[in-house]
Amino acid sequence: MTKPILPGATLGVLGSGQLGRMFALAARRMGYRVHTYSPERRTPTGQVADKEVCAPYEDLDALTAFCQEVDVISFEFENVPALASECAARFVPVRPGGDVLHTIQNRLREKTFIRDHGFPHTPFRPVRQRAELDQALIELGTPAVLKTVGFGYDGKGQVVIRAAAEAEAAWQAIGQVEAVLEGFIDFEREVSVVAARSLAGDFAHYGVIENLHQNHILDVSIPDAPISEALAREAVEISRGLMDKLDVVGVLCVELFVTRDERLLINELAPRPHNSGHFTFDASLTSQFEQQVRAICGLPLGATDLLRPAAMSNLLGDLWADGEPNWAAAVADPAVKLHLYGKARARPGRKMGHLTAFGSDRGDARRRAVAARQRLLER
Ligand code: AMP
Repeated sequence: MTKPILPGATLGVLGSGQLGRMFALAARRMGYRVHTYSPERRTPTGQVADKEVCAPYEDLDALTAFCQEVDVISFEFENVPALASECAARFVPVRPGGDVLHTIQNRLREKTFIRDHGFPHTPFRPVRQRAELDQALIELGTPAVLKTVGFGYDGKGQVVIRAAAEAEAAWQAIGQVEAVLEGFIDFEREVSVVAARSLAGDFAHYGVIENLHQNHILDVSIPDAPISEALAREAVEISRGLMDKLDVVGVLCVELFVTRDERLLINELAPRPHNSGHFTFDASLTSQFEQQVRAICGLPLGATDLLRPAAMSNLLGDLWADGEPNWAAAVADPAVKLHLYGKARARPGRKMGHLTAFGSDRGDARRRAVAARQRLLER
C-alpha cells in the first residue's frame, strides 16, 4: 500500500486558473503547501499558492526543477502537453496519470474511448480532411456540429452545420484542422456528474447536476437535476465506470445530454474539478477541490452530502462592461456567497467569479443565484 502524502507536503499543480486557485485554497486549509506552474504570472492560483513558477510547459528544465520541489502533481488545465506530464512522472506521482490526459485532451481519442468501452455517446465521425466532412454529413445528416479535436472548451472550436451546403464554410471556420463531426442532439436538458476516485479505487459523487448554458458557456448549475431516479442512477454508474476504466485518481466531470426520450448521451469529459461543481465549495460537506486534494494524496475521500439546496451562477467579464459590478448589492442576500478569481482584466465571456446561493429548495436557490447576479448591475 502506497504511503499517503500528508499535510506539510507540497502539492504541485500544472495550470494556474480558478480551478487551481480553489484547489490551493482547499489544500492550504488542510495544511499542505501548493506550488503552481504555468506560462503566466500573477495568476488566480499563484495569488494563493506558496510558489508560482512561470515557464512554458515545453520547458522541461524548468518543469524538472518544479517537480523536484513537490511531492505529487495534479493539474487544473488538461491541455498540458503529454511530454510535460511524462517528464513530471519521472520524478513524482502524477494524478490523474498522463494517459488520462492523453485520452481526454483529444476529442477523437476521448470519443473513441467512450464508444469502445460501451458508454452511451453522441454519434460522431472523424474528420481529418475536407472529403471526410462531406461523407460524415451524409452519414450523420444535418444539423450536425463540427468540433476541433484539440483545445476546445466553452464552445470554442466548434461550428453548427445546418445544411450540407455549409460544409465548406464550417471547414474554413475551424481552420481546416483535424475535427470530429457530431450529430446535433435536440436535448431536453444538460447535466453533469462530478465525482472523485481515490488511490484505493473508492468512488464518491455529487449526484446529477443540471446545467444551463448561455452562448455555449455554463451560466447556472443546480444540483439534484430533475430527472428520474433510474436515469440519475445510470448517470452515476456511467461516471463510476468511466473513472474505473480510465483509472482516474482525482476528480472527473462527465457532461451528458438528456434526450427528449429519456436517454443519456455523454458529451464530454473533464479530468479535474469542473465549473458545474463549484457549488460544492460552499454547499457540500466536502468540496470537489478537497476531494482532489484527498485523492491525489492517497487519503480517503470525504462525504459529499449537500448541506442545503443551492445553485451557482457564473460571473463573466461582460458584467464589467459599465464599470465595477455592485458587489454589496449581490451579497445583500445573506444566503449568497461571492467568489472572485483575482483576474486583473475582465473580457466578455471570461470567467471572473461565481455566486453560490442557498434556498428553501432548488428553484428558490436558482432564483436567488440569478437575482444576486442581476443586482451586480445596479448603480
Ligand atoms: P462542448 O464544448 O462540446 O461541451 O459544447 C458546448 C455546448 O455546446 C454544450 O454544452 C451544448 O450546449 C452545445 N453542444 C455541443 N455539442 C452538441 C451537440 N452534439 N448537440 C447539441 N448541442 C451541442
